[in-house]
Amino acid sequence: MTTCYQLYIGGAWRDATGGATFPAINPVNQQAWADLPQASAEDVDAAVSAAREAFDGGWKDTNGLTRATLMQRLAELLEYDAERMAQLETTDNGKVIRETRVQMRFAARNYRYFAGWADKLQGDSIPLDRPELVDFTTREPRGVAALITSWNSPMAILANKLAPALAAGCTVVIKPSEMASVTTLAFAELCERAGFPAGVINVVTGDSSVGAALTGHPGVDLISFTGGTATGKAISRVAAEHLTPVTLELGGKSANIVFSDADLKQALTGVVAGIFAAAGQTCIAGSRLLVQRDIYDQVVAEVCERAQAIRVGDPRDESTEMGPVATKAQHRRVLDFINRARTQGATLITGGGEPQGDLYTRGYFVEPTVFSDVEPDSELAQEEVFGPVLAIIPFETEEQAIAIANGTAYGLVAGLWTQNLARAHRVARQLQVGGVWVNTYRTNAAQAPFGGVKASGSGRERGLHALDEYLEIKNLMIDLSNEARDPFAIRT
Ligand code: NDP
Repeated sequence: MTTCYQLYIGGAWRDATGGATFPAINPVNQQAWADLPQASAEDVDAAVSAAREAFDGGWKDTNGLTRATLMQRLAELLEYDAERMAQLETTDNGKVIRETRVQMRFAARNYRYFAGWADKLQGDSIPLDRPELVDFTTREPRGVAALITSWNSPMAILANKLAPALAAGCTVVIKPSEMASVTTLAFAELCERAGFPAGVINVVTGDSSVGAALTGHPGVDLISFTGGTATGKAISRVAAEHLTPVTLELGGKSANIVFSDADLKQALTGVVAGIFAAAGQTCIAGSRLLVQRDIYDQVVAEVCERAQAIRVGDPRDESTEMGPVATKAQHRRVLDFINRARTQGATLITGGGEPQGDLYTRGYFVEPTVFSDVEPDSELAQEEVFGPVLAIIPFETEEQAIAIANGTAYGLVAGLWTQNLARAHRVARQLQVGGVWVNTYRTNAAQAPFGGVKASGSGRERGLHALDEYLEIKNLMIDLSNEARDPFAIRT
């Protein structure tokens, strides 16, 4: 049965103006299973106006405790509904249920973490050169935030943005990917039940024209975007017209670097988590595996064995380790990458196509695929595949590993596997990335900042620094003296 969803604007549920809809497709069987509203530019305008009204009409002046209480209630509702939400997300984007369950709890954890900051947004008291001048700062919400998310983890990515936005006192218009919008609309129901005032949280769904209308809207005060690098650049260009600040969480080609002194059992688990979890559809995918030469053959053989043992299947099945990729276009794209890599000198050691069998005929499945002896400057080592395809590259020295790791346009994260603490510090310092994991990979925390450098984006999500994206600093300087001053010379 197909469920029909509506837009959530100004605290009310409504069809898109003109009544257009589009289907949600289950990537396991290509069945349409939900009907979603295709918002118009008019709907986007209504959502931005509702967010503005809510911001000016009181939300920006709510005290932190009120915001924190609402956010804690939202977290509670999400925890209570985690199983239902996880099932919805798994049906929508094909991510395995064992992961979406964890992601719902992690999203709730993020709302709780930022709820803790909502009543602690203090500024600084700043001593100046003149004792008669009193100076201090306040931190004020920036206004209406446009939050644009991608299809691979809609709820987790939204929490990275919405939680600090609400804690800061911003109002929001959310635009999820048309490839996976169901959970965002289901989540808006939870926001409504939590008691957020009308217009604080608005959701518009539809294709990229909705995102374009939103990011180009003059009523938007800041944009937080997660998605591809090309889209991030397009949004930055549009935002420049209104000088709208933008936070960008973009793609990656992250290196997992295994030194010969690593605990190999631990490292191999990190390698598998890095590239085959979520069928490689994560920005943090450890899609390049750099291995020191003296353990290279052993690691290649063991990675191959681990990849072949992965249970690929229906993501709703508890025992499935890897589901399909999320969309038809992504399926084609991943297979094309594999086919090109085969002709570009890399050695295919396992996978390389679609798994065979009845289970797989209707879904967007790709085999866990591993290439060894990949040239660091080849397409497979440079471009983000966003699928379960690992490129293994040998290296001899620490310096070589650093040069290869830094040798792409991206700079999101990196993994280091070594028992040598000095080496871990030395290498981590030289990696051009926003985050380094040592002896772990794909481990997240609400408290730890996350984000990239170079083509992987700018700004940080999660952790205390995320709040800065949604707050402006205002400086207040008060002159306590009644001194006459020279009006034609600046006072210092
Ligand atoms: P896209 O860049 O295609 O889309 C991301 C979002 O932007 C979607 O909601 C999309 O809408 C919307 N959008 C598309 N065009 C525009 C536009 N011109 N103006 C405004 N909004 C627009 O990325 P994907 O959804 O395909 O996600 C995959 C990419 O996201 C990968 O490259 C991945 O690396 C990156 N990613 C980065 C993460 C990070 O934290 N660094 C996390 C997860 C993913 P629609 O889908 O309807 O077209």
